[in-house]
Formats: sequence, structure tokens, C-alpha cells
Amino acid sequence: FMRTDCPLDKDLLGYQTWGLLHTMAAYYPDHPTPHQQRDMYNFFMLLAQFYPCATCARDFANLLRVRPPVTSSRRELGQWLCWIHNTVNRKLGKPIFDCALIDERWKDGWEDGSCDI
Ligand code: FAD
Repeated sequence: FMRTDCPLDKDLLGYQTWGLLHTMAAYYPDHPTPHQQRDMYNFFMLLAQFYPCATCARDFANLLRVRPPVTSSRRELGQWLCWIHNTVNRKLGKPIFDCALIDERWKDGWEDGSCDI
């Protein structure tokens, strides 16, 4: 049971933020303009600056310094974000996600049709 009329804790904020970020990456253009590439790059840099969990934001900013956003295409952005999320998963002891499956998870739904209803 999840209360939705209360302030978000770290885990719910994280879960919902990943949902937005992966969905945004899934619908990013295949051939983004230079302007879109720069804006998406800046979006992640700004997110790291204002993400409202201090320890998360600090580690996230460090991660972006090591591995800056790759915004050259939908595919590249999705794979980059999957790697970033897996790095956070590793830090927290969570399972590593198979980055070959991001379109099924975040855009098309699973091949068995379980998301179709
Ligand atoms: P989540 O990690 O929230 O994942 C949600 C869903 O995404 C999963 O159910 C899975 O289907 C899918 N998924 C998992 N991995 C991937 C992947 N690699 N690529 C694509 N899809 C995937 N929490 C902390 O305690 N400390 C931190 O320092 C911290 N830093 C964070 C930094 C950022 C930028 C964000 C967005 C969140 C951070 N969090 C942090 C929160 C943490 O990552 C989780 O969101 C939270 O612990 C809830 O985890 P969850 O098990 O619900 O799944």
C-alpha cells in the first residue's frame, strides 16, 4: 500500500524519477538536433544540481562527471541512462537490469503481452 497524498520519501521519489527519466529517454528522438542534444545534456546536469535528496544528488553529480550524458540519439541516451541506473543499483545492492530490455520495460511493453491490458 502506497499513500500518494503524503510527501515523497527517498525511495518513492527515486522510483518515480526513474520512471520519468527512462520514459523520457525512450521517447527522445532518434536523430536529435544539436539544440536538443545540448538541452538534454543540460537537463541531466541541472537535475543533479537540484535533485531533492542530498546524498543522492552528490553521488549522481560525481557519476555525471565520470560519465557525462550521451545525448546523440534515443538509443545512446537510453543505454547511458541504463548504465547510470545500474551504477546506483550496484551501490544500493539492488539487482542489475539487462539494458537490452529497456524498450520493452519503458516503451513497448513485454513480448508476452503482459502490459497490453
Ligand atoms: P528503482 O531503482 O527505483 O527502479 C524502478 C524500476 O526501474 C525497476 O523496478 C526496474 O523495472 C527498472 N530498472 C531498474 N534498473 C534499471 C536500469 N538500469 N535501466 C532501466 N530500468 C531499470 N537511493 C538511495 O538510497 N541512495 C542514493 O544515493 C540514491 N541515488 C539516486 C539517484 C538518482 C538520480 C535517482 C533517480 C534515485 C536515487 N536513489 C537513491 C533511489 C533509488 O535509485 C531507487 O529509486 C529506490 O531505492 C527505489 O528502488 P526500487 O527498488 O523501487 O527500484
